[in-house]
Amino acid sequence: MKSKFLSSAALASLATAALLSGCGKASDSGKIRMITEATFPPYEFRQGSEVVGIDVEICKAIAAELGKELAVEDVEFDSVLPSLIANKAELAAAGITVNEDRKKMVDFSDPYVETGIVVISAKSAPVKGAADAKGKRIGVQNGTTSADYCVEQLGQEPDRFDSPASAFAALKAGKIDLVIADVDPAENLVKGDADYAITSEPRFLTSECYAIAIKKGQPELLATINKVIGEMKASGRLAAIFEEFKAKADALAAGSGACACGESCPNAACDKSACPCAK
Ligand code: GLN
Repeated sequence: MKSKFLSSAALASLATAALLSGCGKASDSGKIRMITEATFPPYEFRQGSEVVGIDVEICKAIAAELGKELAVEDVEFDSVLPSLIANKAELAAAGITVNEDRKKMVDFSDPYVETGIVVISAKSAPVKGAADAKGKRIGVQNGTTSADYCVEQLGQEPDRFDSPASAFAALKAGKIDLVIADVDPAENLVKGDADYAITSEPRFLTSECYAIAIKKGQPELLATINKVIGEMKASGRLAAIFEEFKAKADALAAGSGACACGESCPNAACDKSACPCAK
């Protein structure tokens, strides 16, 4: 279950931590809390009830470096940074693109991947880029750089959804004409789809980097995170994690018995628009 709010247990432990250590300090409870939005394979997605993915593995390594265990909290994407700022977590990792607006609110680690956003549309009527997209009904995940792209580059309001999968379901239902989304979840959605594909040419509408966000003013924590990311890049561990979770997310998307979010499929044909994560 997603919630924009902390559970009462989490609030209680937050209150205790505040009493013991003063407000705003990283929790001393033995846990490091990661806030994310788990409809974004392969970075974060659900396998059963567990949130897994590339970002989870990076944050587990950071927690281990700090001698703590990782606790993962799943909220709507547009609540991720506000929740971090409100001390509901120490780390925010959700395929978060570094940009100037966000840098005013939070501090970012070194980037761990270079990526970008793409168009998904019908193979029979491919939308190739900004010129074709303008004036069409565009679906995006709320709060994302894809939403910003529509407003800032195309000068139009998109239809906003709570996940890339629900935007894609609306596309398949004929409610919108195209989806703009980050390339990796987009690839995952169209995997094996007979009618829809990534149609942007050139492939990327933007060039973006993902990084871990933390509350401003914690140079020691930032240095530790950058050390862990640097070591994971140098050792090849980061590349191995990318490979592992892309394969896992693809297997879930392609599997006839499972939805892209890892929930079991509610109908025999596994029409992804019927999946819990597509709602
Ligand atoms: N990278 C995009 C952004 O930061 C989308 C992230 C997401 O939906 N999880 O806005």
